[in-house]
Amino acid sequence: MEKIQMITPLVEMDGDEMTRVLWQMIKDELLEPFIDLKTEYYDLGLKNRNDTDDQVTIDSAHATIKHGVAVKCATITPNAARVEEYNLKKMYKSPNGTIRAIVNGTVFRTPIIVKGITPCVRNWKEPITIARHAYGDVYQNVEEKLQSGDKAELVITRADGSKESRVIHDFAKGAGIVQTMHNMNDSIVSFARSCFNYALDQKKDLWFGAKDTISKQYDHTFKDIFNDVFEKEYRKDFELAGIEYFYSLIDDIVARIMKSKGGMIWACKNYDGDVMSDMISSAFGSLAMMTSVLVSPTGVYEYEAAHGTVQRHYYKHLKGEETSTNSVATIFAWSGALRKRGQLDDIPELVKFANKLELATIQTIESGKMTKDLALITSFEETVTLSSRDFIVAVRKTLEDLL
Ligand code: NAP
Ligand code: MG
Repeated sequence: MEKIQMITPLVEMDGDEMTRVLWQMIKDELLEPFIDLKTEYYDLGLKNRNDTDDQVTIDSAHATIKHGVAVKCATITPNAARVEEYNLKKMYKSPNGTIRAIVNGTVFRTPIIVKGITPCVRNWKEPITIARHAYGDVYQNVEEKLQSGDKAELVITRADGSKESRVIHDFAKGAGIVQTMHNMNDSIVSFARSCFNYALDQKKDLWFGAKDTISKQYDHTFKDIFNDVFEKEYRKDFELAGIEYFYSLIDDIVARIMKSKGGMIWACKNYDGDVMSDMISSAFGSLAMMTSVLVSPTGVYEYEAAHGTVQRHYYKHLKGEETSTNSVATIFAWSGALRKRGQLDDIPELVKFANKLELATIQTIESGKMTKDLALITSFEETVTLSSRDFIVAVRKTLEDLL
């Protein structure tokens, strides 16, 4: 078979620990035998981030904007223990945070569904994608503990210098707490555009919920901005694509999601997204089966697995012990990026290959061959638990039969 040719390079962001090991295996076994893989390589492994004072992360984000599509391996976000372990010059910020700030995107997380791993919610048949707004609200709040006798006020200095203040609460009768939050219209507009674009890209309905009945200024602004952006920029395209935008009160959305068969993209305010993404991923079975894509409001895409570097498995691997680490989400990060590259560059063979790679991965698991994390939760009675490498080799065999 002749190798598939690429036109524009994919931005490749290598990473850390066990996922870095899987990364190389995936390239060796599942990609390079079939594709003349063209990537612009950035080593985001912690050692190289330290060697470059984290410039490599910034460069990789700008390359993503330039080329349009990136694929990223999981990376360590340093804490005090990592500073010591890697002898770091400083405690670098999360690479995902740095990339997200430059690309200005929204993260969409989608579970990968296979037979034998049944969602806890019986009626969920299709994946539910969560889009989390990643700016403001409680994550950038100002809060304070107050003593009895204190008074909390909100003071606004208008553009002309005049001041207005409102009492939040008078704590005359006892101690308490106060919290204030903010958001930016521009950020909400970008979030809305990313969500509408991704819904069109995926041809799936978009749902959004906020507490606008109680929060008549704050949450209502989210509702209004989503509505304005939809009416002005997206209604026609949604109608053409046969998909819908659905807004309701957050409580109603939660109730409907539970009773739905899935298949929608669920846009969430920052806190709702934080909480609901954990509920969705655990209800669908496993963090190792969750993909993640960062989408900018202008249509730049960065694909990755939702899980981390699987440190515990890596230490076993370093000791020479056999590991059984699930590579599915990382395989899907590659297939997602290759499919998008194929669509943008009009290379149908690349799109077909990406689809078959995903199908081969799913069929391998559905034939009973899987890694330990899935073997522990599957409803299949007969399973073969494979090592990290043997699972990838099994996927390659299935893939070769499909090609
Ligand atoms: P983690 O790497 O996601 O792993 C947590 C546990 O979940 C693992 O110990 C393992 O459980 C299970 N697990 C996760 N992915 C798996 C897979 N693919 N196959 C099998 N089991 C899997 O989270 P963490 O241990 O909290 O974080 C490790 C490092 O990853 C940290 O340095 C963190 O900063 C980084 N991180 C990076 C990203 C990212 O780059 N997007 C995201 C999150 C965390 P068992 O040990 O029980 O088998
Ligand atoms: Mg959370």
